[in-house]
Amino acid sequence: MKSESTISSRRLRDLPSVDALMQRDSVVAQLKRADRPIVLQAVRRIAEELRQAMHQGWEPASREELLAEFDRRLGGAVEAVRRPSLRRVINATGVVIHTNLGRAPLGREAVDALTAIARGYSNLEYDLEKGERGTRDGHCESLLRELLKCEAAVVVNNNAAAVLLVLNTLADGGEVIISRGELVEIGGSFRIPEIMAKSGAILREVGTTNRTRLSDYEVAVTDRTRLILRVHQSNFKIVGFAERPALAELVALGHDRGLPVVEDLGSGCLVDLRELGLAEEPVAPQSIAAGVDLCTFSGDKLLGGPQAGIVAGRQGLIAMIRRNPWLRVVRPDKLCFAALESTLRDYRYHEWARLPVLRMLSTPAKTIRRRAQTLVRKLGKTKAPECSILPGFSTTGGGTAPDSRIPTFLLAIRHCGRSAEDVDRALRSHEPPIIARVQDGQVLIDLRTVEPDGEEAILDCLRSLAQR
Ligand SMILES: *Cc1c(COP(=O)(O)O)cnc(C)c1O
Repeated sequence: MKSESTISSRRLRDLPSVDALMQRDSVVAQLKRADRPIVLQAVRRIAEELRQAMHQGWEPASREELLAEFDRRLGGAVEAVRRPSLRRVINATGVVIHTNLGRAPLGREAVDALTAIARGYSNLEYDLEKGERGTRDGHCESLLRELLKCEAAVVVNNNAAAVLLVLNTLADGGEVIISRGELVEIGGSFRIPEIMAKSGAILREVGTTNRTRLSDYEVAVTDRTRLILRVHQSNFKIVGFAERPALAELVALGHDRGLPVVEDLGSGCLVDLRELGLAEEPVAPQSIAAGVDLCTFSGDKLLGGPQAGIVAGRQGLIAMIRRNPWLRVVRPDKLCFAALESTLRDYRYHEWARLPVLRMLSTPAKTIRRRAQTLVRKLGKTKAPECSILPGFSTTGGGTAPDSRIPTFLLAIRHCGRSAEDVDRALRSHEPPIIARVQDGQVLIDLRTVEPDGEEAILDCLRSLAQR
């Protein structure tokens, strides 16, 4: 304690108690806007920060300067305490399924369904006709059966859980054959070999990174083999000297040897994206049509729904999964079922326009240019920031279609010689925060992933930059 500078110790004593600080005019003014516990927490936080700053050598010249610093920090601190940690942001990156930004945005109808269920009680596990206990699975299963043309389906928390559950149910203690080219790692440390180990299944890798032939699978089948797994490569592509058997060939082999064939589709869309002019992604109904016994995919990637994992396929195998105690551990909640059912209904009844992911992916570049031009026009005559519109590319994201480049137009922003990092920081500190791309020393905004209310926020932020 003796080592502290004497000035700091003196100033430390100048810092009034929290009770006394609560009486200051600046604090009383804040109490008119925010609840007392929030303001109290903010005051405590600043007092602690100031004490720390003085311990670290900050020496305010006087008690007045110390209190002025307190007042200067107050508004920001109250705001910070008030603000939740999980906040809405504007995704101006042009990455449609951005895992760091919460993947798929839900459509309005899905949000309405979710809100209605969240507010009160529901028939989550109640059969309204019989007046007795029902199953939560039932709510989405018939839609999935129709959409995928499969016998049965079950919904879990995410696709990682779906893969783990399938492996554990069908292959615990036995071997799973998979091509070396498909031992993928998906962001957030989902690695096929590790999931396999946790499931109790033994990995039996065949082929090489770039080439795996049907005969490689054939010779690997033994009496310990439980299933053949095909994994979509998702976030990378092997080009050049590459080969793997067609899904139908694997299916034929599996069925010949009495082994189930399972495909982890990753994103698993329900519609053929080529119809939207986009890169091909595996379509779940086609996987089922090719004869796989089970396929698994995410709810919040290209499907455009809530976080979920879907396992679809044969009745008998799904029944085994339903009996696995792990299913209880990875079951989704009612909010997930509400949003997923609504999303699936939009597919079932062809309401594509209600699905933000499909809407964003299929917006023509010229529409995005027009929106960018309108935004620049609304910004008006302000000299700064300086905006220009350039051609560029958006991407699907979410570990899907790694080589997809969707033509778009970008808003490049420059501001009074400030660095791109400074402008980017200003965008991020806006309320709601705006997440842009920084590339080649420029801040780039892609309106493909921005909803109309987000455009207003961007306009607001650019206007406030101009005033600074
Ligand atoms: C994304 C992905 C997963 C994990 O899905 P989550 O829904 O994120 O759990 C598993 N396998 C593949 C091939 C994927 O692309």
